[in-house]
Amino acid sequence: MKPVPASATTASGRFFLPGPTEVRPKILEAQLGPMIGHRGPDMVALMDELQRGLKVVFDTVRPVFVSSSSATGLMEAAVRNGASGPVLSLVNGAFSERFAEIAEACGLPVDRLEVPWGESHDPEAVAGALAGERYEAVTVVHSETSTGALEPIRQIAEVVRASGDALLLVDSVTGVGGAELHADAWGLDFVLTGSQKALALPPGLALAVASARMMARSATMERKGIYFDLVAFEENLAKLQTPNTPAISLLYALRAQLADILAETIEARWTRHRAMAERTWAWTERMREERGLALRVMAPEGARSPTVTAVAMPDGVGAPGVVNAVRERGWVIGGGYGKLKEGTFRIGHMGDHTVGELDALLEALEEVLTTTAVTSG
Ligand SMILES: *Cc1c(COP(=O)(O)O)cnc(C)c1O
Repeated sequence: MKPVPASATTASGRFFLPGPTEVRPKILEAQLGPMIGHRGPDMVALMDELQRGLKVVFDTVRPVFVSSSSATGLMEAAVRNGASGPVLSLVNGAFSERFAEIAEACGLPVDRLEVPWGESHDPEAVAGALAGERYEAVTVVHSETSTGALEPIRQIAEVVRASGDALLLVDSVTGVGGAELHADAWGLDFVLTGSQKALALPPGLALAVASARMMARSATMERKGIYFDLVAFEENLAKLQTPNTPAISLLYALRAQLADILAETIEARWTRHRAMAERTWAWTERMREERGLALRVMAPEGARSPTVTAVAMPDGVGAPGVVNAVRERGWVIGGGYGKLKEGTFRIGHMGDHTVGELDALLEALEEVLTTTAVTSG
């Protein structure tokens, strides 16, 4: 069944947007399963199977919440269930800024600890910002999709824990499933992702784990609304159900994808992502050394995401032209995000892509950068 014909840019192995990411045909087809009642035994069996796989993906023994929403929904859930007072937001790009804006939109006073976009936070600076202050929560983005920066989540969690009662709320939307993450061992109070990034599923599901501290806090929150009340999620999950009608077709896709992730193993998946990232960084270096193109990986060495790389253009302009020229050759990459539109392009080397597929893209990119007069627009 192929209702929409494949075009050059939807051909398999060529879609490198940093979200949504390419979804394999067998996963798309898994969505064709029949509707089932969401209070019946079929749902219980399905959710039981999903929980087993999701616990491996998040490395947790706790229940993994399944939300029929985009990831932003669970960012809002993080704030509404985790804080009713001052929040410290670690900002280093567009999505971490969005996390701060969500907390403000929920009526909370927010202090931003901002570092230049592309960089990540020094845990000691976070400890300094927490000292003597009474924050209820700290927001952070594990893999900042706008810049390709990776935050040292484990070390940040350590300093947040040591500081007192503040909860650490982690957006790991381009982390989970691609970057190493241990929700329990690292002491993360809330860690969320969306289906359409490193998990390589269609958009529309968000997934998260909450610590016991987070659930205790949630139980005391008065204005968390209905749809994203984590206590309701936990109560329903105890019965292997969801609070409302879930996106059943997406749950089928998730089941199929989890089976493949467990077969690959989560550790091998992290290693594959790391290999794709290193390939991209080495290519950027080679463009500079052998081709005389002053391209640069935006995030500094040691703080780079394994799932997405933002490449800065030589003169800080012309990135949209590169994206268009690559598209004409049949590949999709991401443009720069927000204020980085002119000066960067982004490669989403995540999901089910292989190093071989990535190599083909990098070859096309090299051709574009060295043979065409790339203009913006
Ligand atoms: C994509 C993304 C989001 C937003 O996800 P939606 O599913 O579009 O709501 C949030 N944070 C990060 C880091 C992302 O990459």
